[in-house]
Amino acid sequence: MLNRPRILVVEDESGIADTIQYVLATDGFAPVLCATAEQALREFEAQPPALAILDVGLPDLNGFELFKRLQALPGGAHVPMLFLTARSDEIDRVVGLELGADDYIAKPFSPRELVARVRVILRRSGRPPAPPTPAAASAPPKPFALDEERRQIRYYGRALDLSRYEYGILRLLVLKPGRVYTRDELLNKVWDDDSASFDRTVDAHIKTLRAKLKAVAPQLEPIRTLRGSGYALSEELPPAP
Ligand code: CA
Repeated sequence: MLNRPRILVVEDESGIADTIQYVLATDGFAPVLCATAEQALREFEAQPPALAILDVGLPDLNGFELFKRLQALPGGAHVPMLFLTARSDEIDRVVGLELGADDYIAKPFSPRELVARVRVILRRSGRPPAPPTPAAASAPPKPFALDEERRQIRYYGRALDLSRYEYGILRLLVLKPGRVYTRDELLNKVWDDDSASFDRTVDAHIKTLRAKLKAVAPQLEPIRTLRGSGYALSEELPPAP
């Protein structure tokens, strides 16, 4: 959370507020939600944000009045503010305030558009842009993503529809790419009761598993067969299919 630009979001409609909070947070900002002007004034006084997004239609004060009060607070004159407006007469008033061309967004707006606008305004006002999100900055995406809680495996972003044993086999392989598992090992680790199971049961599940993987990336063969020894997950899968 270090150095994330703090964005005050004053919006009483929780659906819109949640959306704005979500897109800002995923884009590397630190949004602070306020449902009333009173709350916004308190938050602003505690610490002026890098930017404030103000809904014009608030339950206690209208956005224009709030804007004036925020501007009068210490540091308030330097904080860029962006209005959210639903009506054209409100847009006229915003333009009349002569704050600049980027000072309002008309509802309904796209969340992406809002974030893009926030970035432009912060750049223009000389604020450092938000650091890249941890997800974007981390290692390249892996072909397989294992979600043990949901007992689900994603392959190049696609959730695989796996049977219990297919999941069990693939889970083992994904946890240690390159590690060779014999049929016996797979039987012991994946099947609770192997009395009724034979080698070819493993083979049959590997076969259906491969067909499901092929459906996502036809040109790749992620499960290697090692003759006489067993199966392993390929370590040479590309980051994208
Ligand atoms: Ca409103």
